[in-house]
Formats: sequence, C-alpha cells, structure tokens
Amino acid sequence: MKKIDGKEVAQKVIDECKSQIAELKVKGITPGLAVVLVGEDPASKVYVGAKARKCEELGIYSKKIELPADASQEQVMQVVEDLNNDPAIDGILVQSPPPPHIDEDAIVRAINPNKDVDGFHPVNVAKLVLEDPSGFIPCTPHGCLRLLQDTGIETSGAEAVVIGRSMIVGKPMALLLMGKLGNATVTVAHSRTKDLAAVCRRADIIIAAIGKPEFVTADMVKDGAVVIDVGINRVEDSSKKSGYKLVGDVAFDEVATKCSAITPVPGGVGPMTIAMLMKNTVISASRR
Ligand code: NAD
Repeated sequence: MKKIDGKEVAQKVIDECKSQIAELKVKGITPGLAVVLVGEDPASKVYVGAKARKCEELGIYSKKIELPADASQEQVMQVVEDLNNDPAIDGILVQSPPPPHIDEDAIVRAINPNKDVDGFHPVNVAKLVLEDPSGFIPCTPHGCLRLLQDTGIETSGAEAVVIGRSMIVGKPMALLLMGKLGNATVTVAHSRTKDLAAVCRRADIIIAAIGKPEFVTADMVKDGAVVIDVGINRVEDSSKKSGYKLVGDVAFDEVATKCSAITPVPGGVGPMTIAMLMKNTVISASRR
C-alpha cells in the first residue's frame, strides 16, 4: 500500500508556481490574491491564514479583508466590487461558509469570472463542463486529479466512484474524471444512493467527499483500489491540546489494508487545494 504524500506533490505545484511568478516579475507583474472572511468561523480563519502564509512564501501579494459576522449583504457585495476593480488583484475568494444571512450564491456571481480563482462562478462551471481551458478549475478536485496523475495512477478507462455531489468537490471531480483529462468511467454516489457499499466495490478509484468522519469502511473497498479522501472532519480527542483531531471521510487504518494507494488526512488533499489555488492565481496574473 502506498500512502500518497499530498505535501510532496503540493510542493511540486508550488515550485512550478515559483518559477512562473519569477517570470511574471520580470514583466513587472506581481500576482495578487484577495481573501474575504465574513465572521469568526474558527476553521475558516485557519484556512484563510494558511492561504495568506502561502502567498507570502511565494511572493504573491495577498490582501485579507475581514468583515464582522453581522456585515450586510451590501457590504460584502461592495468589497467584491472594489476587488473586481482593483488592478493589483488577480484572484478573489470569499471564504465559505459565510454567516447564514449572507446569500453566498449572489456573492459568487458578483465576482468577476476572470478573477474567480475558486472556479465557482457559473461562467467557470460552464467552462469546466465545456472543457474550455480559459476557465478556472475548482482547486480541491483539480488537486485530487493532480495527485492521481503525479502518483502514476492510471485514470484512463478506470472505474471511478465519486461519493458526494457538491458544487465544490463532487460534481467538478466527476466532470474532471470523465473529461479528457481523466478519461475515467465515472459513477457519482450521494445520500440517496442505494447500496453504496456495492457501488463503491466496483471502483478502481474512490473519491470520498461526504463530510462524515470515517464513513468509508473496508467492506466498501475492492482489493487494490485507490482511495482519495477529501474529507476534513473535526472529532473530539481529549488527548490533544486543542480537544479535537482531524479525520477524513475514510476509516484510514482499515481501508489502507485493502487499497493499493490512499491519501492520509491531514497531509493528503488539503495541501493540494492551497497549491492549486496558488496555481490559479498565477494563471490569472499571467492573463493580465
Ligand atoms: P457537502 O456537505 O456539500 O456534500 C456532501 C455530499 O456527500 C453530498 O453531496 C451528499 O449527497 C453526500 N452524502 C452525504 N451523506 C451521504 C451518505 N450517507 N451516503 C452517500 N453520500 C452522502 O460537502 P463538501 O463541501 O463536498 O465537502 C465534503 C468533505 O470534504 C467535507 O469533509 C469537507 O470538509 C471536505 N473538504 C475538504 C477540502 C480540502 O481542501 N481537503 C475542500 C473542500 C471540502
């Protein structure tokens, strides 16, 4: 069994970004990423901090805009509008989830699609469906595909089962795998799927994006399958100073005994998501 090292592959992506950034700087261009955080969600704060630190490491100009939890829809929309018009900013993301009174769809639609480095704007979703390379591909599923490719796992002709149909992970993951980049035969499973275990046992490649701790168990996995665990779940752990630990959507210890390759949590998909975000920001800057 191979434990797929997300940090190692992410570092390769980061190194590619570094050389592209150096080329851009020669042309007088410094890529810029703006991250908007509304409210105090602790996990969101961690993600936003990690993105800002990665920008700093790479020499990407980063702008962090923090709004209070009671910020109005109009305030957030104004921030997005200002960033759309800011020539120093190539990428804009509004950290999800915003507080419940904020209409997240409206915010995403307000972002200029050419700065939508998350790839969530309807224009970029359409471009993903159309396999139009001028769009931005959502970072997490793109990172999963890159992990498979760099690990030498053949997706072409493989039976892939994606568990989860969210717009952030499941749906774009299925599109990438079924498209010309993946060439896999794809099944999308979700909360209404009957006999999920039987569906999963067909898979050469399982992508788990469910949001339920250790949901995928050994009986759901065929011998020799590849398992990519997108899940990030906080579960109580009194032995940790923080009082919690992070686990994926896959019961790692038991599933690892059956598969040929598997991503750990943390250290698998997570670092890839940030790396692909940096990549999208650099691509956006190179289109200035
Ligand atoms: P989501 O809640 O939007 O979607 C979960 C999906 O799982 C749904 O489509 C649902 O149909 C499916 N599902 C729920 N219960 C199921 C069941 N019993 N059987 C089969 N399918 C079921 O979540 P999401 O935004 O797609 O995120 C999924 C997980 O990935 C979460 O743990 C999240 O924290 C994590 N995540 C990680 C990264 C990363 O960078 N590694 C990025 C995004 C999300």
